[in-house]
Amino acid sequence: MDVARESAGMVAEETLDPPDWAEVQALSRRAVDEAVNYLRDVRDRPVWREMPADVRGMFRAPLPRSPTPLAAVYGEVSRTVMSYPMGNIHPRFWSWYMGSSNFTGALGDFLAAIQGSNLGGGNHAAGLMDSQVVNWCKEMLGFPASASGTLVSGGSMANIIGLTVARNVKAGVDVREHGVSAIEKPLRFYGSDQIHACHRKAMEALGLGNRALRRIPTDAGLRIDIDALRAAISEDRAAGFKPACVIGTAGTVNTGAIDDLRALAKLAHEEGLWFHVDGCIGALIAIAPQNAHRVAGIEWADSVALDPHKWLHSPFEVGCALVRDAAAHRRTFAVTPEYLESTPRGLASGEWLHDYGLQTSRGFRALKVWMALKEHGVEKFGRLIDQNIAQVSYLAGLIEAEPSLELAAAPTINIVCFRYQPGLAGEALKALNTEIMLRLQEQGIAALSDTTVHGGHWLRVAITNHRTRRDDLDLLVREVVRLGREITAQGHVSS
Ligand SMILES: *Cc1c(COP(=O)(O)O)cnc(C)c1O
Repeated sequence: MDVARESAGMVAEETLDPPDWAEVQALSRRAVDEAVNYLRDVRDRPVWREMPADVRGMFRAPLPRSPTPLAAVYGEVSRTVMSYPMGNIHPRFWSWYMGSSNFTGALGDFLAAIQGSNLGGGNHAAGLMDSQVVNWCKEMLGFPASASGTLVSGGSMANIIGLTVARNVKAGVDVREHGVSAIEKPLRFYGSDQIHACHRKAMEALGLGNRALRRIPTDAGLRIDIDALRAAISEDRAAGFKPACVIGTAGTVNTGAIDDLRALAKLAHEEGLWFHVDGCIGALIAIAPQNAHRVAGIEWADSVALDPHKWLHSPFEVGCALVRDAAAHRRTFAVTPEYLESTPRGLASGEWLHDYGLQTSRGFRALKVWMALKEHGVEKFGRLIDQNIAQVSYLAGLIEAEPSLELAAAPTINIVCFRYQPGLAGEALKALNTEIMLRLQEQGIAALSDTTVHGGHWLRVAITNHRTRRDDLDLLVREVVRLGREITAQGHVSS
């Protein structure tokens, strides 16, 4: 015993490491076994279920002040969190738009957390892998190797990255130094009236304001009307605005419509605008052999947002922004002046990855993407995308064959909108279909969402799911019809 320390009244240091590693090993083995079974048996559980009051109550427990054995902590998580999931890993989850995760990706997240590296930069393997995954994303989309990119939390952030570079390049002044008030002519951005809500938030955060984003009408297929866009641009120029950026959508969230990306690229080029593509849904169609033609032109974009946690099924979160002009990308975010070099050797000799976005500390998102791509190969991911698109057209066929169901429009990709139609209209029809949707969820059968298309209310199925089978779609149609009849027979729609 160190007499000096003892006399100074120093107690032994504490650590978060366990006192007994063997015990942690045993518990971890159990947790992994249970996690594997959890995925194996996902089909046998309800898609979703309402939490009982006592489970809800657990989430109001106050800040723990004293310790709880890890086994008890894990037990509580099993009973509460793991038992009441959102359900998006289930084969019959088709709400909104999200991927269905995968075990290898989860293992990647675990190992990334174990290694614990910070991807803000530095000379270490995780940093190199992060750049490699960005390079793989470029390769998947046919982007040039000289382009830059960054992994971010998701598509919304990836869009913000692209739009920020667009603003700074087109502002005509040093926005970083002087702010948006120094911009002489107000900038205008353009997207279709189907554009995702994250672009509004981006315009607000960029200090340009929601009105700087003009929503251009869409054609019958809900794709941006190119002539209307051209007219809006010249109207704005004449009115003293500075048209700066066209945002094309490769796969709208409502119906999966894909703007004519080639025409948009051409128009942006002629008009001297930045061309950004929101490819959160559809950019990855570029790897799907039967459908890649639908996103032709994406490789001409100045920037693209894509979302590996959607059609690559990476566990949340991971999005990716790609920027053709790497120097413009770096100029938008770098805080280290170009002449300040990192150390010639050692840990600080790597690239500073925080120079390509807003975060300083960055998680090791790349590993989960890398491991799953390595295990399966990109071709399988491409086939799975084709499979989902084929499943949606199978479902559209079932809907058309069922007299009590109505299809909103023939699907383009993996999203289809339809409704149960017993001869009602307006609010009554909406209430009935909403009730069908809620009962499907509450009975744990399937998760759908709803939306408005061409002014009408529709149920919406988006299949971004590597576990869905055609049987699941047969079942969906049977159950929608059963519930529609049941609710109609009950003669009322509860609210
Ligand atoms: C999902 C989605 C986004 C937002 O992406 P997140 O990963 O949810 O942040 C943006 N645009 C479109 C078209 C989307 O489908």
